[in-house]
Amino acid sequence: MTRRNFFQVSAGGAITLPEFQPKSMLHVAAHPATSAKFPVIDVHTHLFGTGRRAAPDSPEGAAELSSVAQCMDECNLQTLINLTGGISGTIPAIRRVMTPFGGKFLTAAEPTWARANEMGYAQWQAEDLAKCKQEGAVGLKILKTLGLGLRENGKLVSIDDPRFDPMWEAAGSLELPVLIHTGDPGAFFTPIDRFNERYEELQHHPEWSFYGRDFPPRSELHEARNRVAARHPKTRFIYLHVGNDAEDLAQVSDWLDRYTNVNVEFGARLGELGRQPRTARKFFDRYQDRIMFGTDATFNAGKEFPQQDLVPPMYRCYFRFLETEDEYFDYAPSAVPPQGRWKIYGIALPDAILRKVYHNNAAREFKLKAVFG
Ligand SMILES: [Zn+2]
Repeated sequence: MTRRNFFQVSAGGAITLPEFQPKSMLHVAAHPATSAKFPVIDVHTHLFGTGRRAAPDSPEGAAELSSVAQCMDECNLQTLINLTGGISGTIPAIRRVMTPFGGKFLTAAEPTWARANEMGYAQWQAEDLAKCKQEGAVGLKILKTLGLGLRENGKLVSIDDPRFDPMWEAAGSLELPVLIHTGDPGAFFTPIDRFNERYEELQHHPEWSFYGRDFPPRSELHEARNRVAARHPKTRFIYLHVGNDAEDLAQVSDWLDRYTNVNVEFGARLGELGRQPRTARKFFDRYQDRIMFGTDATFNAGKEFPQQDLVPPMYRCYFRFLETEDEYFDYAPSAVPPQGRWKIYGIALPDAILRKVYHNNAAREFKLKAVFG
């Protein structure tokens, strides 16, 4: 064998990054969990597809819920809270299709951004939220649209713009928790170059990058959101995706210490939490009453996107992270890691904390009947 053979990995020369699919040679104990140890309330899901939204009260919408319900029974998921699609006027149709499933599906309301620049919006939105609650909404979802998308005269509208104050106040007095997504992962605010830890993800979705142009730095978005929480202490906030700073749990801890009306959810952030299992475990210990289970799951019913197959494996990554001490495993079921080339480690939460994170914290915040004492 010549020396050259050691380095020659394929006939064409070096492989490209997408071709690199190393298989771990580690032999470590694996305890994949089929279903969650306690009944789960997932506070962060998107039912009825995303891009190709099925009309909720169409046969397609009902078929989607039936197939999701099957996955739920397999995985010990008690309730999924749908966060999108519940804008003014659509909630009755959503509730109609959910009701036959008992308490399995709930929905949040969204603000009507299309009217945000109209005269009288502030008061109208507050009143509309009361109507949404009457129709069955259990929370108010704020997409990253606020801060990164909504504009007036070409300029981005700030998250703490006073026109939303009546809405935040109404959410408080109506006891609707505000599920707020602000900013995005840190890597979406830095150049898409060889130093970017989500390089491959951003190659697939360059439009997800908020680097440059007129977007504010991520910290400014976070601070504007925090000012809203501070200004409305009687309103309950759930910062989605660990406040979109799962990379820096010391920072998130500081927010939780400062704002007692804030809770967090950790959907789509296993890649961050599971890479820092010791820090994450301490975080879950310390804030065990303020962390809720969420996944950001989308289901995309229909023949074109049979993603239901991926639903149980996706949930099982979460269960394994929360319940076991397993080492160096995948944070998502897909062959190519969707966010970055990382493996994660479990944090083996004790039962008392698992019950709170899986169920009781959400049951308390959404005023659902807790099944545990
Ligand atoms: Zn989401």
